Parts: sequence; C-alpha cells; structure tokens
Amino acid sequence: MTARILDGLKIRDQMFAELQDEIRLLAVAGVRPGLAAVLVGENPASQLYVKSKIAACEHLGLASGLFTPPATVSMQDLLAVVDGLNRDNNVDGILIQLPLPPHVDTKRILEAVDPAKDVDGFHPVNLGRLVSGRPGLVACTPAGCMEILRRSNISIEGANAVVLGRSDIVGKPMALLLMHANATVTICHSKTCDLPEAVRRADILVAAMGKAGFVQPDWIKPGATVIDVGTNTIKDPAEAERLLRNFPGRLEKFRAKGSILVGDVHPEAIHTAGALTPVPGGVGLMTITMLMSNTVKAARLRRASPEFSATPSTATAR
Ligand code: NAP
Repeated sequence: MTARILDGLKIRDQMFAELQDEIRLLAVAGVRPGLAAVLVGENPASQLYVKSKIAACEHLGLASGLFTPPATVSMQDLLAVVDGLNRDNNVDGILIQLPLPPHVDTKRILEAVDPAKDVDGFHPVNLGRLVSGRPGLVACTPAGCMEILRRSNISIEGANAVVLGRSDIVGKPMALLLMHANATVTICHSKTCDLPEAVRRADILVAAMGKAGFVQPDWIKPGATVIDVGTNTIKDPAEAERLLRNFPGRLEKFRAKGSILVGDVHPEAIHTAGALTPVPGGVGLMTITMLMSNTVKAARLRRASPEFSATPSTATAR
C-alpha cells in the first residue's frame, strides 16, 4: 500500500485562485489589502522568508511594504515602527519576522501589534479568540494544516487526532482547531510516556516536533492521515542513508546538494499511512498561503466588524 499524497502545491494554487477572486471583489469596493513586513537585521534565512512573502503579495496583487530596522534597533524604536503600522489605515496585516535579536523582548513586540492586524495569529487576543471558538486571525501553519485536511476530504469529526508538539505557534493552536472540528485530541510532548502507543491511536496524526524522521512507520495506524509539519535540514550522510535508503531519487539529490529537507515522520511511513503530506511540498507551502489569506481576511474584518476596527495603539515604550 502507498499513501495518497496530500499535495500542498495543488491546494495552494486552488487557494490562490480563490483569493484572487476575493481580492478582485475588494478592489471593486475600493479596498486593496496590504501587508507590512518588519525584518530586523540581516539574518539570511529571514531575508529569504520575507522575500517569498512579499513575492506572494505581488503575485496576488496585494500591497506590501518592507521595514528593515537594523539589528541594533532599540525596543523603543521598534515599538514606534509597530505603532506607526498600527495607525496606518493602508496596512491590514503586520508581520514581524522572527527571530528578533536577543536584546529585543519578542513577546512585548508581538503584543504591541494591533490584534486586528495580527496576520500571524500570535497575539494573546487572537489566541484567546481561538480558545473560545470566536472569529479571529489563526496562526498560519496550523490553519494551513486544517485547509489540507478539509480540502482533501479527510473526515475530522469523531476522529482520534494526535498532535506531536505543544508550541504556541503550531502544536497548541493545531490541537484547538482539531478540537473545534470535533476530533478527540491528544497532545503529546517531550515528557509524554509511551509516544508510540499514543501515535498508534491516531486516525489523524500531526507531527510538529522538529526531529528528523522521528516518527517510525510501525507507530502509524494503518490507513491514518499524517500531516508532517516538521522541516528539518539533514546534512549527515549516515542519517540521509538511514532515512532515504529506499528513495534513490532523494538520496541522489542529497549527494548532489549535501543537504536535504525531511519531515518529522520517517519517509517509509508512506507504506503505512492512508494519506500523507510530503516534505517538502506539503505543509510548508500552506504557511505563506495562509498569511495571504489572513491579510485578505483582516482587510475584510477590519472594515466589517467594530470588534475588528483599528484600535488605538498601546505600543509605547515603558
Ligand atoms: P518547537 O517550539 O521547538 O516545539 C517542538 C515541540 O515538540 C515541543 O512541544 C516539544 O516538547 C516537542 N518535542 C520535541 N522532542 C520531542 C520528543 N522526543 N517527543 C515528543 N515531543 C517532542 O517547534 P515548533 O516551532 O512548534 O516547530 C516544530 C517543527 O515544525 C519544526 O521542525 C519547525 O521547523 C516546523 N515548522 C514548520 C513550519 C512550516 O511552514 N512547514 C512552520 C512552523 C514550524 P516540549 O514542549 O516538552 O519541549
């Protein structure tokens, strides 16, 4: 048996087409949603991520702006940047690219973002809305996983869902979204006793641990749906051989490049699972898609609901 591949590219294209229709309708009403990205310092990986987010905006016809304070920026100045964006009515979404430099209090910066413009869904107000099942902006990666499940017609209601990982940006919101979709949810973490046994109960498994190929094929319930959030670059030839020995094409790529991206689930799980997201080509593509979707949603909600109208900023340095 070989699992059905849940193709992130196909779902992204489908969602981009839907977003373009929505953006055209907003344009008729005189609204062009806009995303502002704040990139502090010159971290090459962050520069690359921000570049692809701005490129996605351009592809869809969203307005975008890039703000690049230096790595030495003071808290006060960074809060002033956020404050300016909160007040700018042309900005619907504010993205603070992480990680921020060590001297910056990341939580305080994220909390300074107007919740109505918090397109990453990291603000405690939006997390609270998610907990209580109220409309809000939801963290992009878990929201993207839900889109994959729904658009692939995976039945969620009544399913046993197991989430590996309990981070604020993936594991916890993922578990909440699955619970609101009426799955019975188990959250596992590094202190979970007998992880294989917990995983074996999963009709839907979401792996978000950051451990290359950690989840073994014989832990997967035959026919289960596996959403692999893990994004791990491996460089060790022995590890590549261990994980990819039966995938000659991928081993070839590893040898040519000296590294390869793998998920948290062992690639051989393709023979146990019923459906599975590939790494790369699965969840990763959905994160930017959901950022675009959240920007359009924020533009709509800010204009439609007093609850979401721009709030006076509290982003002043203490
Ligand atoms: P994180 O903050 O490091 O959290 C990892 C979680 O995994 C923690 O809750 C940790 O448990 C748990 N964990 C670690 N080792 C474990 C073990 N041996 N057994 C059981 N649980 C274990 O990571 P994250 O930010 O959530 O990201 C997780 C993965 O998703 C990473 O590979 C990241 O690169 C990837 N990611 C991908 C995307 C995308 O767009 N595709 C987006 C975001 C993240 P404790 O809480 O007990 O420490």
